[in-house]
Amino acid sequence: MDNEKTHFGYQSISESEKARRVADVFDSVAQRYDLMNDLMSGGMHRLWKAFTIQRSGIREGSRVLDVAGGTGDLSLAFAKRAGKSGQVWLTDINNAMLARGRDRLLDKGYMLPVAQCDAEKLPFPDDWFDIVTVAFGLRNMTHKELALGEMYRVLRPGGRLLVLEFSKIWKPLAPAYDFYSFKVIPRIGKLVTNDSESYQYLSESIRVHPDQQELKALMEGVGLEGVEYFNMALGVVALHRGFKF
Ligand code: SAM
Repeated sequence: MDNEKTHFGYQSISESEKARRVADVFDSVAQRYDLMNDLMSGGMHRLWKAFTIQRSGIREGSRVLDVAGGTGDLSLAFAKRAGKSGQVWLTDINNAMLARGRDRLLDKGYMLPVAQCDAEKLPFPDDWFDIVTVAFGLRNMTHKELALGEMYRVLRPGGRLLVLEFSKIWKPLAPAYDFYSFKVIPRIGKLVTNDSESYQYLSESIRVHPDQQELKALMEGVGLEGVEYFNMALGVVALHRGFKF
């Protein structure tokens, strides 16, 4: 499977090289990741994440898995709501992102279980979590169906999967959005992280990611039911939600 070609932004590269280059991106941006999110989105990523929490059905005692959780924004918000009887796992494939996430959570007084793992091979039992989330992570995964299948497997019957991801913007705004993505974002990346390439990759990876309908179909394909999506910022971002019954 390793010799198959896959996307890395607009480039076509081998699957093993993609894993290495995605790791390079997040090693490079980890320290400034949160600042960049605020700058690029004008703080809007906080609203998108808040909406995700609101649609998750989180309760005191819930078991939650945050896949590709990175620096831990969603994990923290879930942990506040799941309380002491709940269980919130912060997971990611990248050690630099995870270490930063763990430190941020500790600074805020939360010691959550943390696991470094690939979303395509989750080290959790079947039918375990009430809620599984992946925010801005699916786009970077090589085998999206495999990863979604794993998320489905670890959900308990009645549980829900939430996928927050960049999506397809309302067409009339596409030229302005392209200008912002390819002319402005890499420059902010250069100024803040001294790395414009990682942010060029971000913009390209959004363009080759499945759109709203395609992602819905992928989720249905792994067995999720009642799949619906909510566009935010005119489709810049969409939250997809599906259930396991
Ligand atoms: N969820 C966080 C957020 O919303 O701020 C972090 C999102 S960050 C853009 C994407 C994350 O996906 C990175 O931390 C990266 O390491 C992780 N990632 C990429 N491929 C992965 C994989 N196959 N398995 C697990 N995590 C992965």
